[in-house]
Amino acid sequence: MKPELSVVLPVFNEIETLGELRARLLSVLDECGRSFEIIFVDDGSHDGSFERMAAFAREDRRIRAVRLSRNFGHQMALTAGVDAARGRLVAVMDADLQDPPELLPEMLAKADEGFEVVYAVRAAREGEGAFKKATAHLFYRLMRRWTNVAIPVDTGDFRLMGPKALAAFRSLRERHRFIRGLTAWVGFRQTGVTYVRPARVHGETKYPLRKMAKFALDALTSFSYVPLQLATWLGFGVSAFSFFYILVVLVLKVLHINVPGWTTLMVFILLIGGVQLMLIGVLGEYLGRIYEEVKGRPLYLVAEVVEDHEEEVTASGPA
Ligand code: UDP
Ligand code: MG
Repeated sequence: MKPELSVVLPVFNEIETLGELRARLLSVLDECGRSFEIIFVDDGSHDGSFERMAAFAREDRRIRAVRLSRNFGHQMALTAGVDAARGRLVAVMDADLQDPPELLPEMLAKADEGFEVVYAVRAAREGEGAFKKATAHLFYRLMRRWTNVAIPVDTGDFRLMGPKALAAFRSLRERHRFIRGLTAWVGFRQTGVTYVRPARVHGETKYPLRKMAKFALDALTSFSYVPLQLATWLGFGVSAFSFFYILVVLVLKVLHINVPGWTTLMVFILLIGGVQLMLIGVLGEYLGRIYEEVKGRPLYLVAEVVEDHEEEVTASGPA
């Protein structure tokens, strides 16, 4: 029998949190009175996270552990989990307890009202540095301005999807996945619930600056052509300026005022050179992504799945 709700958690080296995570999830989900399954997706951890979640799965038939063949990144691990989920509703959340399981009942209530996507909005963030907060703030606002989908501001990947949204989401197989954008893109009725995002209980963020920059670039390039259009605008701007400057040069020539041209020449060579290189870079970003799409490789590879097949998943489950 299919469960009513699947909870998907991508995990990368979170061994310290797994025990508490399971306990809190189970206590919330048991209260809800719906059948459920919990899917841990191990994204190539090397701290024994998989062994721990596999042990959970062996002891509790409502828990499944999926191990990817290597680290594919958070967004892919999440996708793998959603693909594996059998529930009518699927919740996705971080495994570091920064997305509190206690919010799930409120989200489920919204889903019952007929919302296909219920996302969690961060009213505030605790325990994150000023830099992360500032860049995140800027990022969400830029995305809103530069993209053509209404991506809700200040949301993470913590969300609950209904059957229609799930079918649509599963059909989107693009490789540079910005999941917040994809779930917004599918449309249907969407709403948010707000929460205060707590600090990480254990360990460090698995999103260092490098990964954050890649994430932001993926987000922007998957949902916006603005960087490509930059060439057009800059081209117009530089041309207009050049036209004006030609007039200046001609007037100076006519007036026989001789300007030593070295500085001007250098400035223009450097300026045009810089602009061109930058725009070739922008082309490269899109071209690289097209190349990767064209190769059509699978998004992720599953190494093994641990689950307890012995008994059927029942509505009540073990106490
Ligand atoms: N994560 C993952 N693969 C990665 C990086 C992170 O599966 O390559 C998981 C991580 O274990 C956590 C979630 O993605 O459950 C969010 O990561 P993190 O908490 O480090 O991000 P932050 O909250 O700092 O933005
Ligand atoms: Mg986190």
